[in-house]
Amino acid sequence: MSQTKLIVGNWKMNGSLSANQALLDEVKAGLGAVRCRAGVCVPAPYLAQVQLLLAGTPIALGAQDVSIHVAGAYTGEVSAAMLRDFGVRYCIVGHSERRQVHRESEVDVALKAKQALACGITPIVCVGETLAQRDAGDTEAVVKRQLAAVIHENGHCISEIVVAYEPVWAIGTGRTATPEQAQAVHAVLRAQLKAATPHHERVAILYGGSMNAVNAAELLAQPDVDGGLIGGAALKATDFLTILRAASR
Ligand code: PEP
Repeated sequence: MSQTKLIVGNWKMNGSLSANQALLDEVKAGLGAVRCRAGVCVPAPYLAQVQLLLAGTPIALGAQDVSIHVAGAYTGEVSAAMLRDFGVRYCIVGHSERRQVHRESEVDVALKAKQALACGITPIVCVGETLAQRDAGDTEAVVKRQLAAVIHENGHCISEIVVAYEPVWAIGTGRTATPEQAQAVHAVLRAQLKAATPHHERVAILYGGSMNAVNAAELLAQPDVDGGLIGGAALKATDFLTILRAASR
């Protein structure tokens, strides 16, 4: 991938008005040597606050989910157009927590990506296998099937997505995929994207799953790891900044 690396924080359901301000003040103060692309995906109620806090910085605003619907009687849902109103640049779709806890299907994830793309928002499409699937030797088949659903629904603009490979067994567990394990799956996803679009080089493939200040540089050094989706370590300014600097080399 020819573009600069992309690091995106996923705050999940964490934060408060005061904590968000303190975190971003510290991140902004330390951005000096950072040359990679960056974003933070925040809980929906904080989009307006964080939009203001990020104004004039190179950090893009992101959301963590989007509705498959455009508008109407869908209580609790947030549409892509609403996210766009707040300057949202990225939206995570298909995070394993949503696939598992909220029973989102592969079709749901593909339709969420479609809604985001229709509003000019880059969907960060998460794919990844459970430990049982890895142990059964199904990793490649699982991630290919998950990405295929998104390609099927969004083929014409598939080069506008970002993919995040997030092995479920590595998310929030402190157990990271080895650089070799990550690279092997990223290469599979790269080949799948290559077959889907002549513009495959535009698509960043991020690694996510306990990436932290210590292991980031080694993971980011892999040829097909174009960046990271960062959960826990994105909530600590010094750790997030260390990862941003590792991605700037
Ligand atoms: C995530 O939730 O996308 C994630 C990668 O979390 P963590 O870094 O905490 O494993």
